[in-house]
Amino acid sequence: MDLVFFGIQGSGKGTQAKRIAAELGYDIFEAGGELRKIAASGSELGKTVKSYIDAGHLVPHEIIMQVVKEAIGARSKSQKILFDGIPRDLDQMRDFDAIMRDADREFRAIHFLLSAEEGLKRILGRAKQEGRADDADESIIRRRMDLFETKTMPVIDRYKAAGKVVEIDANRSVDDIYGDLKAAVKKD
Ligand code: AMP
Repeated sequence: MDLVFFGIQGSGKGTQAKRIAAELGYDIFEAGGELRKIAASGSELGKTVKSYIDAGHLVPHEIIMQVVKEAIGARSKSQKILFDGIPRDLDQMRDFDAIMRDADREFRAIHFLLSAEEGLKRILGRAKQEGRADDADESIIRRRMDLFETKTMPVIDRYKAAGKVVEIDANRSVDDIYGDLKAAVKKD
């Protein structure tokens, strides 16, 4: 069973992803990280992708869907995948579900719950460590958080209605969150 992680910026899902992937053998597909790699390549595509990331907008649908489709196609059925940062809106959800169905892959979604206020505080701290331009500008972080509320929450709500979502309170220590995460994943 694959995993799909949701959480507002600063919810700590990336940290949890690395830890559970290392312990239980998932490959991580981090949408933002994959797109940042493309942006850094300097190609024409990279320049386009970078302009969206720097502005805090979603990268165009076809680009991200192509990237995730290739990532899934490159892995064997037995390799579990942890998706972080996709699907981000209902259009991506529609295509993501179709790709997963075609690949005969099932997934459980995890939603790391955190207030926008707390997320913003954490992310401004992170920007100093990682040097990400889109994490350093408060107005761009707020735009990304608005996108999460308006575009991504409807995705989570639909998966929730389908019984696919486990919610985890992310306003706690890394270890406490991880304990709940592991329990949720091991229910398979
Ligand atoms: P993140 O690291 O998840 O905060 O993503 C950083 C940036 O990458 C976002 O602000 C978007 O510009 C872009 N991005 C990440 N995931 C997606 C996605 N699924 N669809 C479109 N753009 C994305």
